[in-house]
Amino acid sequence: QIPGDQDTGGQDAVRAGQLAARFAEVYGHAPDGVWRAPGRVNLIGEHTDYNDGFVLPFAIDRSAMVAVRLRRASEPDPEAVELASTYAPDGHRLSRARFRIPGLAPGAVADWGAYPAGVVHVLAGLDDVQVPGFELLLDSTVPVGAGLSSSHAVEVATIVALNDLLDLGLDRPGMARLTQRAENEFVGAPTGIMDQSASLMGRAGAALFLDCRSLAAETVPLPLAEHGLAVLVIDTRVAHSHADGGYGARRASCEAGAAALGAASLREVPTGADLSALDAVTARRVRHVLTENARVLATVARLRAGDVAGIGELLVASHASLREDYEVSCPELDLAVDTALAAGAVGARMTGGGFGGSAIALVAAGEAGRTAAAVTEAFARAGHRAPSTFVVAPGEGAGRVR
Ligand code: ADP
Ligand code: MG
Repeated sequence: QIPGDQDTGGQDAVRAGQLAARFAEVYGHAPDGVWRAPGRVNLIGEHTDYNDGFVLPFAIDRSAMVAVRLRRASEPDPEAVELASTYAPDGHRLSRARFRIPGLAPGAVADWGAYPAGVVHVLAGLDDVQVPGFELLLDSTVPVGAGLSSSHAVEVATIVALNDLLDLGLDRPGMARLTQRAENEFVGAPTGIMDQSASLMGRAGAALFLDCRSLAAETVPLPLAEHGLAVLVIDTRVAHSHADGGYGARRASCEAGAAALGAASLREVPTGADLSALDAVTARRVRHVLTENARVLATVARLRAGDVAGIGELLVASHASLREDYEVSCPELDLAVDTALAAGAVGARMTGGGFGGSAIALVAAGEAGRTAAAVTEAFARAGHRAPSTFVVAPGEGAGRVR
């Protein structure tokens, strides 16, 4: 079940052609190839990853695309890496970065260059792997900072490109683990493996059922269009300041809860376990994780049975659990979910770590625009900043486009 490199659609081919042309303008010669890696949405399974639990993300039809050319040994400074991105919020034409591979260490590359540099760092650290310098031009359609993992898309696009160009023969789970290491060891973010896995192993029209204990991954059908459904992302554009502290505190509660229950992780604790020995807050945190794992399994079962609309109530229950038991929602996320449901959504929930970020709503395909308008209006009435809304579809995982 490895995503087909060719199967990325005509639009991607056009985009890749434009990127190759732009690359030639920027660097003065053609790239060796063009690769893409999608962002992701987590359909269900929130705050379960670091508890060895289940998650069900899907790769979306928005991706980071990179054109790459290896530097030849005969060129000046063959160990230099030149990076450019069309995402340049400061008004420049391109965001550019440059580093040299010898002696590359965490902290040496700032800003977005740390993502490709982290990939270079872990690959160069593998036995028998020599990474030469290269030139890279990035163009991404994954919105930055909306919780759709634009950052992992950059890492994954870089690793699939280098895997091909250097003939490393890495498989998809291997590349997922390496990009996780790049993120943990080089970028310095203690993130799990879900986002990279979705970007690497996602399939069009499917979600990726991932067991975070064994890292086993299976695709599960998610034929939204065939069922007349769509997933609307509502980016609240809120980044609450206590997100980091809240995340750490939740992880600590889960570890304390597992220890008090005599389990190595909450994955080992049965869904209906007696939590009366725990203090009230820890019991609520644990209950969220146990019930969320059960909801992921129920979602997978319904999707396998062809009952796509039937997952709506599980999304709603997930949100309630995140709001009441795990306490990681916020007024904007609750308003997005409640308004979408009132407007007729089949299901809705916050997605991602919480305290801001995005919500998703499962809606009738023809109703996405009306639902988005209802949420935007409710935000205006509540005095919140306007959300950003867009429809995503389950797309193909990362691969070569050209
Ligand atoms: P997200 O939820 O989108 O992953 P993050 O804050 O984790 O949000 O990652 C966003 C960061 O990823 C940006 O600040 C930037 O460093 C990097 N990034 C993502 N897309 C691009 C791009 N197209 N060009 C340059 N950097 C990018
Ligand atoms: Mg990110």
